[in-house]
Amino acid sequence: MLRTKKALIAAALAVLAVACGKEGSPPVKGPSPDQLPDYKVESAFALPNSATWEKAKRRGRLVVGAKEDQPYMGEKDPASGRYSGFDIEIAKMVAASLGFDPAGIQFRTIASANRETALQNGQIDYYVGTYTINDKRKKLVGFGGPYYMAGQSLLVRTDEKDINGPQDLDGKRVCSAAGSTPYQRMQQDYPQADLVAYDTYSVCVDNLLTYQVDAVTTDDTILMGYAAKVPEEMKVVGAPFSKEPYGIGVPRTDTALRFAIDDALAAREKNGDWQKAYDVTLGLSGRKATPAPPIDRYPAS
Ligand code: GLU
Repeated sequence: MLRTKKALIAAALAVLAVACGKEGSPPVKGPSPDQLPDYKVESAFALPNSATWEKAKRRGRLVVGAKEDQPYMGEKDPASGRYSGFDIEIAKMVAASLGFDPAGIQFRTIASANRETALQNGQIDYYVGTYTINDKRKKLVGFGGPYYMAGQSLLVRTDEKDINGPQDLDGKRVCSAAGSTPYQRMQQDYPQADLVAYDTYSVCVDNLLTYQVDAVTTDDTILMGYAAKVPEEMKVVGAPFSKEPYGIGVPRTDTALRFAIDDALAAREKNGDWQKAYDVTLGLSGRKATPAPPIDRYPAS
């Protein structure tokens, strides 16, 4: 029995490694680069009121924060160093509207817990990576968008029978990312769960497959991406139990940049780029496109 279980785990991890491109092979059902939309670069665009934009112009390229281990959202191929996914496409279409060639973007992986500091320190010009807009974070950074609505959910092994929603987590080991809204919600609303935190969700998934935790919790977008890679090993259960509106993080005082990003998103939703990008990224995980929520052009404070 033990040997079978061990063999199963080894096989699952191997599948995940291959699926995530760790061995240099393309993802099984991943976005194919030749299907990605070409975003028209607004070469005459200028934003003299934005210190961030001016600095990027002088540098000659944008530096954008992202995730690298979230299939279909933000994923880095370790062999080529190329980033792909819906968030990456959002970053690219916005860059094109801001007058930058998307091919020249320098992506930087930043974990959930480090996003605000990265924006405050000027390490990145903006951030696109499953980043929930909320009032607490708005005190530290600004948010363009929202450009998508996700919801917190649960990922379990396919052999799991007892966990069907957050009400079933008492005494169960549950993994999430430090500094994330799902982690905070678990702490506040489900204190009976045995919560563990890592920097990234992919470490949580490894722990799930090796029976060290019973569930992984974060946004359904992220969890569906992992499940779609190895559906025979993992499944997403229950209905989403929060609202996670995704925004583009910017330095808090750079309102000019924030409004320009809002305009860019609105234009790209209208001209069909948003939908095209969705279809060849997150859409491949089997997740139906819910329309982008209305853009919240909130005033400067
Ligand atoms: N959207 C949630 C958050 O911003 C979870 C996903 C993440 O950690 O990036 O905290």
